[in-house]
Amino acid sequence: MRALSICAVSSSWFARFKLKLIASIAKIMASRRKYAEGMGFLKHIRRLHGVCAAETWTRAPYLGERAPRALCALGNVQSLLDRAASCAWGCSRGDHCAEFLVGRAVSSSNAAMLLMTNGHYDEALSLIRSTGEVANLVCLFITDRALFERWKSIDDKTRRKEFRPVRVRQQLKASEGPLVIDEDLYDVLSGFAIHPEPGGLVQAHNALSRSLLLPIFQAEGFVKCINELARTMAFVAVFAAAFIKLPDKVKQNLRDAGRELVKNIGGVNLDEKERPWFSPSGVSMPE
Ligand SMILES: [Zn+2]
Repeated sequence: MRALSICAVSSSWFARFKLKLIASIAKIMASRRKYAEGMGFLKHIRRLHGVCAAETWTRAPYLGERAPRALCALGNVQSLLDRAASCAWGCSRGDHCAEFLVGRAVSSSNAAMLLMTNGHYDEALSLIRSTGEVANLVCLFITDRALFERWKSIDDKTRRKEFRPVRVRQQLKASEGPLVIDEDLYDVLSGFAIHPEPGGLVQAHNALSRSLLLPIFQAEGFVKCINELARTMAFVAVFAAAFIKLPDKVKQNLRDAGRELVKNIGGVNLDEKERPWFSPSGVSMPE
Protein backbone atom coordinates (compact mmCIF):
# COMPACT_ATOMS: atom_id res chain seq x y z
CA MET A 1 0.00 0.00 0.00
CA ARG A 2 2.76 2.34 1.04
CA ALA A 3 4.80 1.36 -1.98
CA LEU A 4 1.82 2.07 -4.22
CA SER A 5 1.28 5.45 -2.64
CA ILE A 6 4.92 6.42 -3.15
CA CYS A 7 4.65 5.24 -6.69
CA ALA A 8 1.51 7.38 -7.29
CA VAL A 9 3.15 10.47 -5.80
CA SER A 10 6.28 9.89 -7.85
CA SER A 11 4.24 9.49 -11.02
CA SER A 12 2.29 12.70 -10.38
CA TRP A 13 5.47 14.62 -9.57
CA PHE A 14 7.15 13.29 -12.69
CA ALA A 15 4.18 14.35 -14.87
CA ARG A 16 4.31 17.90 -13.43
CA PHE A 17 8.09 17.98 -13.82
CA LYS A 18 7.77 16.81 -17.43
CA LEU A 19 5.19 19.50 -18.24
CA LYS A 20 7.35 22.19 -16.59
CA LEU A 21 10.41 20.94 -18.49
CA ILE A 22 8.56 21.05 -21.82
CA ALA A 23 7.25 24.55 -21.07
CA SER A 24 10.76 25.74 -20.13
CA ILE A 25 12.29 24.26 -23.28
CA ALA A 26 9.54 25.87 -25.43
CA LYS A 27 10.20 29.22 -23.69
CA ILE A 28 13.95 28.97 -24.27
CA MET A 29 13.43 27.97 -27.92
CA ALA A 30 10.99 30.86 -28.45
CA SER A 31 13.47 33.34 -26.95
CA ARG A 32 16.28 31.99 -29.14
CA ARG A 33 14.23 31.90 -32.36
CA LYS A 34 15.89 34.29 -34.74
CA TYR A 35 13.90 35.89 -37.51
CA ALA A 36 15.81 36.90 -40.59
CA GLU A 37 15.82 40.63 -41.27
CA GLY A 38 17.00 43.01 -43.97
CA MET A 39 18.77 41.29 -46.87
CA GLY A 40 18.64 38.05 -44.90
CA PHE A 41 14.84 38.04 -45.02
CA LEU A 42 14.82 38.79 -48.75
CA LYS A 43 17.29 35.92 -49.27
CA HIS A 44 15.01 33.66 -47.19
CA ILE A 45 12.00 34.54 -49.41
CA ARG A 46 14.07 33.99 -52.57
CA ARG A 47 15.07 30.56 -51.28
CA LEU A 48 11.42 29.73 -50.54
CA HIS A 49 10.42 30.90 -54.03
CA GLY A 50 12.98 28.48 -55.50
CA VAL A 51 11.72 25.61 -53.32
CA CYS A 52 8.09 26.41 -54.20
CA ALA A 53 8.83 26.64 -57.95
CA ALA A 54 10.72 23.34 -57.90
CA GLU A 55 7.86 21.60 -56.06
CA THR A 56 5.26 23.19 -58.35
CA TRP A 57 6.81 21.83 -61.53
CA THR A 58 7.67 18.47 -59.97
CA ARG A 59 4.05 18.00 -58.87
CA ALA A 60 2.39 19.60 -61.92
CA PRO A 61 2.31 16.42 -64.10
CA TYR A 62 0.49 14.56 -61.29
CA LEU A 63 -2.22 17.11 -60.43
CA GLY A 64 -5.15 15.12 -61.82
CA GLU A 65 -5.85 14.47 -65.48
CA ARG A 66 -6.95 17.83 -66.80
CA ALA A 67 -4.57 20.25 -65.09
CA PRO A 68 -1.40 18.91 -66.81
CA ARG A 69 -3.20 18.94 -70.17
CA ALA A 70 -4.53 22.45 -69.50
CA LEU A 71 -0.98 23.62 -68.74
CA CYS A 72 0.24 22.24 -72.05
CA ALA A 73 -2.70 23.80 -73.92
CA LEU A 74 -2.07 27.09 -72.10
CA GLY A 75 1.53 26.98 -73.33
CA ASN A 76 0.29 26.54 -76.92
CA VAL A 77 -2.19 29.44 -76.59
CA GLN A 78 0.48 31.65 -75.03
CA SER A 79 2.96 30.84 -77.78
CA LEU A 80 0.48 31.62 -80.58
CA LEU A 81 -0.75 34.82 -78.91
CA ASP A 82 2.82 35.95 -78.23
CA ARG A 83 3.63 35.64 -81.93
CA ALA A 84 0.33 37.19 -83.01
CA ALA A 85 0.98 40.22 -80.79
CA SER A 86 4.56 40.52 -82.11
CA CYS A 87 3.83 40.50 -85.87
CA ALA A 88 5.66 37.16 -86.15
CA TRP A 89 3.63 36.27 -89.28
CA GLY A 90 4.15 39.64 -90.94
CA CYS A 91 3.41 43.23 -90.03
CA SER A 92 0.14 44.80 -91.17
CA ARG A 93 1.74 48.28 -90.81
CA GLY A 94 -1.32 49.46 -88.90
CA ASP A 95 -1.48 51.28 -85.58
CA HIS A 96 -0.83 48.00 -83.69
CA CYS A 97 -3.52 48.84 -81.10
CA ALA A 98 -5.06 45.37 -81.44
CA GLU A 99 -1.65 43.72 -81.09
CA PHE A 100 -0.83 45.84 -78.02
CA LEU A 101 -4.11 44.90 -76.37
CA VAL A 102 -3.61 41.17 -76.95
CA GLY A 103 0.05 41.58 -75.91
CA ARG A 104 -1.16 43.00 -72.60
CA ALA A 105 -3.16 39.84 -71.93
CA VAL A 106 -0.15 37.68 -72.85
CA SER A 107 2.14 39.63 -70.52
CA SER A 108 -0.36 39.47 -67.63
CA SER A 109 -0.78 35.75 -68.23
CA ASN A 110 3.00 35.18 -68.15
CA ALA A 111 3.21 37.19 -64.92
CA ALA A 112 0.29 35.24 -63.40
CA MET A 113 2.12 32.01 -64.25
CA LEU A 114 5.26 33.33 -62.53
CA LEU A 115 3.28 34.22 -59.38
CA MET A 116 1.38 30.93 -59.19
CA THR A 117 4.64 29.04 -59.71
CA ASN A 118 6.12 30.87 -56.74
CA GLY A 119 3.22 30.41 -54.34
CA HIS A 120 1.52 33.82 -54.73
CA TYR A 121 -1.89 32.53 -55.75
CA ASP A 122 -3.92 35.56 -54.60
CA GLU A 123 -1.78 37.91 -56.66
CA ALA A 124 -1.90 35.54 -59.65
CA LEU A 125 -5.71 35.66 -59.48
CA SER A 126 -5.66 39.46 -59.54
CA LEU A 127 -3.62 39.33 -62.77
CA ILE A 128 -6.00 36.72 -64.15
CA ARG A 129 -8.72 39.30 -63.57
CA SER A 130 -6.71 41.64 -65.81
CA THR A 131 -6.59 39.04 -68.60
CA GLY A 132 -10.38 38.68 -68.24
CA GLU A 133 -10.82 42.45 -68.53
CA VAL A 134 -8.83 42.43 -71.77
CA ALA A 135 -10.90 39.46 -73.01
CA ASN A 136 -14.12 41.38 -72.30
CA LEU A 137 -12.78 44.47 -74.06
CA VAL A 138 -11.63 42.54 -77.15
CA CYS A 139 -14.99 40.78 -77.25
CA LEU A 140 -16.74 44.16 -77.24
CA PHE A 141 -14.52 45.43 -80.06
CA ILE A 142 -15.05 42.46 -82.34
CA THR A 143 -18.79 42.76 -81.69
CA ASP A 144 -18.76 46.45 -82.58
CA ARG A 145 -15.73 47.74 -84.56
CA ALA A 146 -16.96 51.33 -84.24
CA LEU A 147 -16.39 51.09 -80.49
CA PHE A 148 -12.79 50.04 -81.12
CA GLU A 149 -12.25 53.10 -83.31
CA ARG A 150 -13.82 55.30 -80.62
CA TRP A 151 -11.66 53.67 -77.89
CA LYS A 152 -8.55 54.57 -79.89
CA SER A 153 -9.57 58.13 -80.71
CA ILE A 154 -10.89 59.58 -77.43
CA ASP A 155 -8.76 61.11 -74.67
CA ASP A 156 -7.59 59.10 -71.66
CA LYS A 157 -10.11 60.57 -69.21
CA THR A 158 -13.10 59.88 -71.48
CA ARG A 159 -11.74 56.40 -72.30
CA ARG A 160 -11.43 55.48 -68.65
CA LYS A 161 -15.00 56.66 -68.10
CA GLU A 162 -16.61 55.06 -71.15
CA PHE A 163 -14.65 51.82 -71.17
CA ARG A 164 -14.17 51.09 -67.51
CA PRO A 165 -14.64 47.36 -66.75
CA VAL A 166 -18.18 47.70 -65.40
CA ARG A 167 -19.32 49.67 -68.49
CA VAL A 168 -17.75 47.08 -70.79
CA ARG A 169 -19.59 44.29 -68.95
CA GLN A 170 -22.87 46.24 -69.17
CA GLN A 171 -22.44 46.78 -72.91
CA LEU A 172 -21.61 43.12 -73.51
CA LYS A 173 -24.62 42.08 -71.48
CA ALA A 174 -26.87 44.43 -73.43
CA SER A 175 -25.57 43.12 -76.76
CA GLU A 176 -25.84 39.53 -75.47
CA GLY A 177 -22.18 38.95 -76.33
CA PRO A 178 -20.06 36.41 -74.44
CA LEU A 179 -19.07 37.73 -71.01
CA VAL A 180 -15.71 36.26 -70.01
CA ILE A 181 -15.78 37.80 -66.55
CA ASP A 182 -19.21 38.70 -65.22
CA GLU A 183 -20.00 40.85 -62.18
CA ASP A 184 -19.84 37.96 -59.69
CA LEU A 185 -16.53 36.54 -60.90
CA TYR A 186 -15.06 40.05 -61.11
CA ASP A 187 -15.96 40.64 -57.45
CA VAL A 188 -14.51 37.31 -56.34
CA LEU A 189 -11.26 37.87 -58.27
CA SER A 190 -11.00 41.42 -56.91
CA GLY A 191 -11.39 40.12 -53.35
CA PHE A 192 -8.16 38.12 -53.44
CA ALA A 193 -5.49 40.78 -53.71
CA ILE A 194 -6.98 43.98 -55.09
CA HIS A 195 -9.75 45.08 -52.71
CA PRO A 196 -8.86 44.19 -49.12
CA GLU A 197 -11.78 42.74 -47.18
CA PRO A 198 -12.14 42.42 -43.41
CA GLY A 199 -11.37 38.88 -42.37
CA GLY A 200 -10.00 38.01 -45.81
CA LEU A 201 -7.45 35.24 -45.37
CA VAL A 202 -4.18 35.64 -47.25
CA GLN A 203 -3.00 32.76 -49.48
CA ALA A 204 -5.46 30.26 -48.01
CA HIS A 205 -5.79 27.71 -50.79
CA ASN A 206 -5.74 24.45 -48.90
CA ALA A 207 -8.14 21.90 -47.47
CA LEU A 208 -7.90 23.49 -44.01
CA SER A 209 -8.46 27.04 -45.36
CA ARG A 210 -5.31 27.99 -43.49
CA SER A 211 -3.50 31.20 -44.35
CA LEU A 212 0.07 30.53 -45.53
CA LEU A 213 1.79 33.87 -45.79
CA LEU A 214 5.16 32.55 -46.95
CA PRO A 215 5.50 31.29 -50.55
CA ILE A 216 4.68 27.62 -50.04
CA PHE A 217 3.30 25.27 -52.69
CA GLN A 218 -0.47 24.75 -52.37
CA ALA A 219 -1.85 22.32 -54.95
CA GLU A 220 -5.38 23.72 -54.77
CA GLY A 221 -4.17 27.28 -55.32
CA PHE A 222 -2.10 26.23 -58.31
CA VAL A 223 -4.87 24.19 -59.94
CA LYS A 224 -7.43 26.93 -59.28
CA CYS A 225 -5.15 29.48 -60.99
CA ILE A 226 -4.57 27.13 -63.95
CA ASN A 227 -8.31 26.73 -64.51
CA GLU A 228 -9.18 30.41 -64.14
CA LEU A 229 -6.27 31.47 -66.36
CA ALA A 230 -7.16 28.80 -68.92
CA ARG A 231 -10.71 30.11 -69.12
CA THR A 232 -9.76 33.74 -69.77
CA MET A 233 -6.87 32.97 -72.14
CA ALA A 234 -8.95 30.52 -74.17
CA PHE A 235 -11.35 33.39 -74.86
CA VAL A 236 -8.46 35.75 -75.68
CA ALA A 237 -7.16 33.20 -78.21
CA VAL A 238 -10.52 32.78 -79.95
CA PHE A 239 -11.20 36.55 -79.93
CA ALA A 240 -7.66 37.39 -81.14
CA ALA A 241 -8.28 35.30 -84.25
CA ALA A 242 -11.05 37.74 -85.16
CA PHE A 243 -9.31 40.86 -83.85
CA ILE A 244 -5.77 40.85 -85.29
CA LYS A 245 -4.93 40.69 -88.99
CA LEU A 246 -3.40 37.22 -89.34
CA PRO A 247 -3.05 34.52 -92.01
CA ASP A 248 -6.12 32.24 -92.13
CA LYS A 249 -4.09 29.23 -91.03
CA VAL A 250 -2.89 31.05 -87.91
CA LYS A 251 -6.44 32.17 -87.10
CA GLN A 252 -7.58 28.56 -87.30
CA ASN A 253 -4.68 27.46 -85.08
CA LEU A 254 -5.65 30.09 -82.49
CA ARG A 255 -9.29 28.96 -82.49
CA ASP A 256 -8.24 25.30 -82.21
CA ALA A 257 -5.79 26.06 -79.39
CA GLY A 258 -8.47 28.02 -77.52
CA ARG A 259 -10.99 25.18 -77.86
CA GLU A 260 -8.40 22.61 -76.76
CA LEU A 261 -7.74 24.74 -73.69
CA VAL A 262 -11.45 24.97 -72.84
CA LYS A 263 -11.74 21.18 -73.12
CA ASN A 264 -9.16 20.75 -70.37
CA ILE A 265 -10.47 23.21 -67.80
CA GLY A 266 -11.01 21.25 -64.60
CA GLY A 267 -13.56 21.52 -61.82
CA VAL A 268 -11.41 23.36 -59.25
CA ASN A 269 -12.28 27.02 -59.63
CA LEU A 270 -13.52 30.01 -57.71
CA ASP A 271 -17.06 28.58 -57.51
CA GLU A 272 -15.76 26.10 -54.95
CA LYS A 273 -16.34 27.47 -51.48
CA GLU A 274 -16.14 24.17 -49.62
CA ARG A 275 -13.05 22.07 -50.09
CA PRO A 276 -13.25 18.89 -48.01
CA TRP A 277 -13.07 16.80 -51.17
CA PHE A 278 -9.84 18.27 -52.36
CA SER A 279 -6.86 16.00 -52.51
CA PRO A 280 -3.44 17.31 -53.58
CA SER A 281 -2.84 14.02 -55.39
CA GLY A 282 -5.73 14.91 -57.66
CA VAL A 283 -7.33 11.51 -57.16
CA SER A 284 -10.55 12.85 -55.67
CA MET A 285 -10.91 15.92 -57.83
CA PRO A 286 -14.45 16.30 -59.15
CA GLU A 287 -15.02 16.53 -62.88
ZN1 LIG B 1 3.81 45.07 -86.85
